[in-house]
Amino acid sequence: MVSRQLRKRGIRDERVLTAMQTIPREEFVPLEERVCSYRDEPVPIGFGQTISQPYMTALMAELLELRGSETVLEVGTGSGYHAAVLGALAARVITIELIPGLVQQAQENLKRTGLGGNVTVICADGSQGWPAGAPYDGISVAAAAPEVPVSLVEQLRDPGRLVIPVGELLDQELRVVSKEQGKIEWRVATLCRFVPLRGEQGWR
Ligand code: SAM
Repeated sequence: MVSRQLRKRGIRDERVLTAMQTIPREEFVPLEERVCSYRDEPVPIGFGQTISQPYMTALMAELLELRGSETVLEVGTGSGYHAAVLGALAARVITIELIPGLVQQAQENLKRTGLGGNVTVICADGSQGWPAGAPYDGISVAAAAPEVPVSLVEQLRDPGRLVIPVGELLDQELRVVSKEQGKIEWRVATLCRFVPLRGEQGWR
């Protein structure tokens, strides 16, 4: 996965590559899908949701430019895999998931692998962020929003970065929103297809 999918497509951050080389992705995939754990595509994790394609997890982590001391918010915990990767790259991760069954599954996955030490999983609507933990050096949203939620930009530290898929239900662009010296700027990193972000500032 690391050499054929991630390096080949241009992921260069060695910390991201090492984290994804080391973390056992199969532990975050349901037993019946384990054979697909390292496939170059999203894999079902139950409740109509998926664990993202490995390349997308790597790209989103790389775009946050983490160095190890940061506090990161992830919206859309799913299996907990992306949160475990972020946990290996930052000091602290708060991850929010709307579906209680997935919260339980992710907590179990993180505990079983011993990767949950600096990861807090919360069951809530993450489209509005999690003000109690703000400000965040980085925010990673793993579900597609119709627009960049204002609350997430407000909860970003200055300087800080937010990575989020934005667009229509089936086709989106992965945006990198940066806050620096009070200025908000954004660029498109790639085109993508994520499941919808639900909730107050997502798709109703
Ligand atoms: N990062 C995950 C992983 O590593 O397995 C994959 C995330 S999956 C593509 C998107 C997740 O976002 C789903 O589990 C979905 O339930 C969740 N989600 C959608 N809207 C949400 C919201 N408003 N707040 C929190 N989670 C949400």
